[in-house]
Amino acid sequence: MGKNIFRNELADFKPYVQGKPIEAVRREYGLDRIEKLASNENQIGPSPKAVEAIKAELAELNFYPESYPFDLQRELSEILGIDEEQLVLGSGGEGVLWQAVLTFINTGDEIVLADPTFDVYRISASLLGAVVVKVPLKGMGFDIDAMLASVNEKTKMFFLCSPNNPTGHIASQAEVDRIVRELPEDVVLVIDEAYYELASFSPDFPKDSIAIVGRRPNTIVLRSFSKTYGIAGVRIGYAITSPEIAARLRGVGPTFKINRLAIAAARGAVKDVEYRDMYAAQNATARQMLLDYYETKGWVSFPSYTNFVFTDTGLDSKWLFEELQKRGVIIRPGVLWGEKWQTWFRISTGTAEQMQYFIDMTEEVLR
Ligand SMILES: *Cc1c(COP(=O)(O)O)cnc(C)c1O
Repeated sequence: MGKNIFRNELADFKPYVQGKPIEAVRREYGLDRIEKLASNENQIGPSPKAVEAIKAELAELNFYPESYPFDLQRELSEILGIDEEQLVLGSGGEGVLWQAVLTFINTGDEIVLADPTFDVYRISASLLGAVVVKVPLKGMGFDIDAMLASVNEKTKMFFLCSPNNPTGHIASQAEVDRIVRELPEDVVLVIDEAYYELASFSPDFPKDSIAIVGRRPNTIVLRSFSKTYGIAGVRIGYAITSPEIAARLRGVGPTFKINRLAIAAARGAVKDVEYRDMYAAQNATARQMLLDYYETKGWVSFPSYTNFVFTDTGLDSKWLFEELQKRGVIIRPGVLWGEKWQTWFRISTGTAEQMQYFIDMTEEVLR
C-alpha cells in the first residue's frame, strides 16, 4: 500500500459549495428564464467605468501585470485617506483572506468566528491546520461575550464579519468598541466589510474601522469590489492594515495575484461614485420589496445591511429551494449553514422585476 500523498488536513476537509451555475440549471430544466439570486452578485451589471477601463487594457494582455499596482495603490489609498503602505490588494477579498491566513496560521493555532458566518475563514485556516472555534449567534446578533470568552493563548485570528454573511446583520458600535478593548493585542482582528459601501448608508453602521487600524496595528479591514461595483467576475479586493502586516501580506501567495483586467476595472470602478450610489439606492428599494412581501407571509428576517436577506419561512428550505429552482429562481437554502437553519433561506436583491418574479414563483410554489 502506498503512502497517503495528500496533505493531512485534506482528510476531513470540506471545500466551498458553490451555488449551481445558471448554465447547469438551464441544461437540467430546459428553462428560458433563470434568475440566479444565490451569490449576492450585483444584478444590474458591472460599473460602466470599469468596463471601459477593461476595454482599454485588452491590448496589453501580452504583458504581465504589475505585482504592485502602482497607480491603483495611490488612487485608492487617497480615496480611503490612508497611507499607501497600509493598502494590500488581492484577488478578491477572498484572495486577501487566503493571504492573511497564509501569513499567520501555524498548525494548532486557533481561530474564533461566529456561526454562521462567511465560510472562507474556516476553509482557509483549517487547510493550514488551524482549530476552528465557532461561536453560535445569540438571537439576531453576535454573542460577543462568548466570542471573547473563546479567546485563549492559542488564538491567532478573530474574525468579525460585519455585515455578516449569510445573515446580513452588523456588529454595533458598542460591540466593535468592546472587541477592540478586550481582544488581546497579539490576536489578529479581521473585520470583513465586503458590504461596506451598502452598509455605510445606515446611520447605525460603525464607520470607523480604518481608525481602528491606527490604534490597533494587528487589525485587518477587508473590502471588496465585487458586490457594490459589480465586478465579481474579474476578482479584486483589498485590505487596510498596519504597514508591518501589509508588507508581509504582499509577500505571500503568487507573485502576480491580480490580473491586468482586474486592476484596470478597479481603477475605473473607484471613480464611479454615481454607479455606486445608484446601486445602493436600488438595493434598498429591492430589499424593502422583499421585506414587505415577507411581512404578508409572517416570515421573520435578520435586519439586512447588505444586498441579501436571510429569512425564516418555517418551511423546509431545501424543498423551497428545489421548487424555486424548477421555476428558474436560484436561492441559497439555510441548511447549508447547518440543521439549525433548515427553515431559513438567503436571497440576493435584484431589480424590482426580478424581485417580483421571485415573489410570483414563490406564490406558485406555495399554492
Ligand atoms: C463576497 C464576500 C467577500 C469577498 O468577495 P470577493 O469577491 O472575493 O471580493 C468577503 N467576505 C464576505 C463576507 C463576502 O460576502
